[in-house]
Amino acid sequence: MSQPEQAPDPDTVVVLCNNCGGDGWTAQPTLAILNGQPQTVISRRECPWCRGNGRRKGFQPPV
Ligand SMILES: [Zn+2]
Repeated sequence: MSQPEQAPDPDTVVVLCNNCGGDGWTAQPTLAILNGQPQTVISRRECPWCRGNGRRKGFQPPV
């Protein structure tokens, strides 16, 4: 897999979100009863850290 290169913005350092690993969502296990059987259902939940875009602004280290 390859992603298109993005031109770096000198004023902004964008880093992958540590919480979701860049996916933009986190797995949310939920216990559900289906047909009388308890089952664990994995549902997607928007990552609260990056609000679903998988990337966050990092800090520009002082030169
Ligand atoms: Zn995230």
